[in-house]
Amino acid sequence: MNMTALNTIAKEATVTSKGLMTGMDSTARLVPSDKKGIRFHLGDKTVEAHVDNVVSTEHCTVIGNQDIKVMLIEHFMAACAICHIEAIDVYLSHFEMPILGGGSAEWVEIFKEAGNRAQESYILSEPVSYFNGKTHIVVMPSDEFKVTYSVNFNHPELNHRWVSLDKDKLNEIIEARTFGYLKELEMLQAAGYARGVSIENTVGLTEDGYTTELKSDFEPAKHKILDLIGDFYLTGFNPMDLKAEVIVKEAGHAVHVKVAKILKDKIQKEN
Ligand SMILES: [Zn+2]
Repeated sequence: MNMTALNTIAKEATVTSKGLMTGMDSTARLVPSDKKGIRFHLGDKTVEAHVDNVVSTEHCTVIGNQDIKVMLIEHFMAACAICHIEAIDVYLSHFEMPILGGGSAEWVEIFKEAGNRAQESYILSEPVSYFNGKTHIVVMPSDEFKVTYSVNFNHPELNHRWVSLDKDKLNEIIEARTFGYLKELEMLQAAGYARGVSIENTVGLTEDGYTTELKSDFEPAKHKILDLIGDFYLTGFNPMDLKAEVIVKEAGHAVHVKVAKILKDKIQKEN
């Protein structure tokens, strides 16, 4: 294999499922590319996955421009980061990515045939921090990419709970499903969100437990790490190859994206 070739998928793949937000069927055709970047296409319109193209972070990460918008790209982006996909075209039938199983497992399964490896590592020119009330994010230079994410939900198991990225158990992050309070579901659906939520793709938080059996302990907190990886890949630099430690307290897409905007100018190739 040519070492300078871009990492892309091995061959074209097509998947269909509902969109989590709109509940509409969405088909994504993934096409290998030799042009760097992750691009989403709808009809003849295109938007590139980049933090400068984020147009909304309400409930999910949305990118767009004057022509199109594409919702809920974060789990796909996380899979691209984890599998080192750096060049791909995504042709969509609908403006929301298919939710599949609610995490990144199905995307990773498609990408694993690519046999991709990290080709570069990145360092930070200086630490980055963001503080706003209860929300903190600190990104410090480190010998490898590490994340510790703490959540504080109104739930007996997720109250001041923290989880760390464990590269030996990366699968627990990849398969961690999206989640939400069961008591808010009806309200969200009335507002036009969460229309594709099912018992399979979403962990519902109840007063004292969950609507579904968890895939691993504290699955919702692990999902926050997945979201962070996906959002940080919008910097244009793969966070999995970034020699930095990220410590997060009670954040979400809006803050991930704010920090990604600061980070993108402070990341450089090593050497
Ligand atoms: Zn998510």
